[in-house]
Amino acid sequence: MKAIDFLKKMNKYEKLEKIGEGTYGMVFKAKNRENQSIVALKKVRLDDEEEGIPSSALREICLLKELKHINIVSDKKLILVFEYCDQDLKKYFDSCDGMIDPNIVRSFLRQLLCGLSYCHSHHVLHRDLKPQNLLINKNGELKLADFGLARAFGIPVRCYSSEVVTLWYRPPDVLFGAKIYSTSIDMWSSGCIFAEMANAGKPLFPGSDVEDELRRIFKLLGTPTESEWPEMINLPDYKHFPNYQPIANLSYVIPNLSPKGIYLLKKFLVCNPLKRISAEQALKHGYFNE
Ligand code: ADP
Ligand code: MG
Repeated sequence: MKAIDFLKKMNKYEKLEKIGEGTYGMVFKAKNRENQSIVALKKVRLDDEEEGIPSSALREICLLKELKHINIVSDKKLILVFEYCDQDLKKYFDSCDGMIDPNIVRSFLRQLLCGLSYCHSHHVLHRDLKPQNLLINKNGELKLADFGLARAFGIPVRCYSSEVVTLWYRPPDVLFGAKIYSTSIDMWSSGCIFAEMANAGKPLFPGSDVEDELRRIFKLLGTPTESEWPEMINLPDYKHFPNYQPIANLSYVIPNLSPKGIYLLKKFLVCNPLKRISAEQALKHGYFNE
């Protein structure tokens, strides 16, 4: 795009306030001068990079294009224009002290799974699902955001990097250094977010490092046995853990979730990635008919 066209396009937006500090840029609330609509502008700085556009940014643009979003490109800076959402799920947790209506939890989970099922059917993994990357608006709509670490999984050419998901939402296979993973990575994160919503913002596995994260997981769900997960011991960073027994009833830890909800949660939180439920299967679960 020519510089002059770019300036004309950007003049369309009146910058209002900063709403987020990005991994490689900033997010601003802005107003479209032509139709007064409110948008979010995500600025990506490109000049510090040695090799031109960071691959993570390119990946985000390509994926968003594929997923039918709008974007504007210039030579030095890159600005993504998004619909504006009122807050992210993390901020929502902070604003509702102690309790979230079970119907809201169900509605948010359903929307998370619908969005994921769409991505997964388009061969896109999100890979960085966490409350800060889920946006919600006043109509109670939830939207997946921040595809900076997302990646198409169509053709498994190379091993995927294992350093991708924020620790608390990272599945045990990735924590043990698995290099090839699939949609199952997002399903584990969804389970963690489900439990966190039901507990009104209390994270399920707030580990401080990889070992602490795994220990917290195994203490709750039980250390996987060889028959449950035969591939585990062959993973690159596999470490032996004591044989923890699963806690008898997850309801002790997530008291506000119905028995059907607990039953569904257990299907997300399966250590063996091959046995984890898919987004599409999860949407058919009886929990959604309560
Ligand atoms: P990063 O790569 O830095 O995580 P994000 O796309 O997640 O970038 O944006 C950072 C934060 O900015 C989000 O956690 C959210 O609070 C806010 N934000 C991003 N996009 C929007 C949007 N469309 N509407 C409202 N807030 C947004
Ligand atoms: Mg983010």
